[in-house]
Amino acid sequence: MWDEVLGHQQNKEFLQKLLKPGSRPHALLFYGMGGIGKKMLALHFAKTFLCKSAAKKPCGICESCRLMDIENNSFAHPDFYLLTAEEAGKDIKIEQVKEMAKQAAFAPVLSEHKVCIIDDAGQMTAEAANSLLKLLEEPPPGWLFILITQQAERLLPTVLSRVVRLRFDAPDNSAVQQILEAKGIVQNTRVLAALAGGSPGRALSYNQADIFAIRREALDLLKKLPLQNPFGYIAALGWGEKYDRAAALLLTEQFIYLLRDVLLLQSGAGGQVYNTDIMAGLDGIAADWPLHTARQGVNAAQEAWQNINKNVSAKNVLEALVLKLDLLRKE
Ligand SMILES: [Zn+2]
Repeated sequence: MWDEVLGHQQNKEFLQKLLKPGSRPHALLFYGMGGIGKKMLALHFAKTFLCKSAAKKPCGICESCRLMDIENNSFAHPDFYLLTAEEAGKDIKIEQVKEMAKQAAFAPVLSEHKVCIIDDAGQMTAEAANSLLKLLEEPPPGWLFILITQQAERLLPTVLSRVVRLRFDAPDNSAVQQILEAKGIVQNTRVLAALAGGSPGRALSYNQADIFAIRREALDLLKKLPLQNPFGYIAALGWGEKYDRAAALLLTEQFIYLLRDVLLLQSGAGGQVYNTDIMAGLDGIAADWPLHTARQGVNAAQEAWQNINKNVSAKNVLEALVLKLDLLRKE
C-alpha cells in the first residue's frame, strides 16, 4: 500500500492500523529530514482514510477520492485541511490556525472524519502553536491531525506531549537512485543520490538546478587556487550577478562536498567520496593541498552557507569565500 511513497515500511504499517475502526490517536507527528516523503505519505494516508469505498481503499473513483487530487496538488475535499505557511520559509500565523479551528463547529461532510495536515509545523509562531494546542487538547470529534516537521524539537513541548511521533529516516542511496531513474534521469544518478544525502526531493532539485555545472565552477576554482590576482578573478567569475540566493547555497554546498571529499582522500577513506565521477580532479587537489587547508576550507564554506541562509548578501558572501579559500591556500 502507498507504493507511490518509497520506503518507510514501519510507518506505513502503523498508519494502516489506523484505517481500521477502533481507538486511534487524534494527532500524529511525522518528523525527519526534508524531501524524503513525509508529506506525500500524509496525503496518501489522508486520501485512503477519507475514501468512501467499502472495498479497496483508496478506490480512486469515489467522490472523496476525486476531491483528493494528490498528483495535481489540488484538494477540494471538504473534510481535508492543509495548513502551511503562506510563503515558503515564512511563519504559520495564529490567524491561520484560528481559521482552521472555525471548522470545528461543523461535522465532517463527506466522510466520518476530518484530516488536518500541518506542514512545516515547526514554523508556527508561539501564538499559533498555543492556539493549535487548544485544538489538540480537545480535538473536535472525528478529527485527525498530522503535523509534519524536519525537527521535532522545534515544536512546543506541550504540543509534543499531545502527538504520537513517527520518525522518518532517509532511504539509502540506491533507493534514491531508483527514484531518479523512474523519473527518467539517467546520468550520474549515483552522485546525485550521494550529494542529496538520501533525500529524493533534494536529488530532484539538484538535477533541476543543473548541479553538475555549478559543481564544475566550484571545482575549477579549487584547482586554480592560489590566485595571482584574486580581485580580478572574482570580478571575472561574476558569481554575484550569476547566482541568486538559492543558487549561491547550492554553490557553497558544492564547495563543502568537494572539500569534504578531498579530506576523505587525504585520510585514506576514498571509499566514502560522494563525487565519484570526478576522482581525477579531487585526487589532484588532495595531493597538492595540506590536510589542514582542506579542513579549514570546509569550515569556511559551511560558514558561507550559513550566512547566505541567514540572508546575508550572496554576492558578498561568495566573494569573501573565494578570498578566504585563496588566503588559506597561500598560508
Ligand atoms: Zn475512494
